[in-house]
Amino acid sequence: MSDAREIWIALRHQAQLKGFRVLVRPMEPSAMAYCSYEPKEIVISDRLDPIEAVSRLAHEVAHLHLHADLGGPDDLQHQGIREIEAELVAYDVLQSNGIRPDDSMIRYMTSWAKTVTSQRPVELVQALADSLVVERRLLSTSVQSYVRAHLRPSASVDDLGPDGPGL
Ligand SMILES: [Zn+2]
Repeated sequence: MSDAREIWIALRHQAQLKGFRVLVRPMEPSAMAYCSYEPKEIVISDRLDPIEAVSRLAHEVAHLHLHADLGGPDDLQHQGIREIEAELVAYDVLQSNGIRPDDSMIRYMTSWAKTVTSQRPVELVQALADSLVVERRLLSTSVQSYVRAHLRPSASVDDLGPDGPGL
């Protein structure tokens, strides 16, 4: 289980591996975060609470992992699909690291799904979740490993509990 600050540091490391800086700055009240490619920056609003801030950072880092090579939003893939995919990965990063994702993340995905299909938005989100099993696991695991290796130097000792008979 990690706290928001630890996940933030691990995600910032993921962004840095892709050449992006992470900045916290004042923003318009309606904006929470954005990612720029020139210069390479992920910018998070300074008025978010720690869970919101780490959710937005996870979302932007997920875009880097999933969509950085696809070009602008007018590219083949519908922007709605990309937004849902990034949010699905962010959702898993939080949940798998012990933070309960806010319901607004579900609403965000459903509202984008409605721009893609008016008929079955929830089914679309589920289908995308199923298709991203590997990617969802990958970023979550990277975050967990980073927290364990760099932010909890003593954790490896605790992990050496008895795991077999006679030990
Ligand atoms: Zn996005």
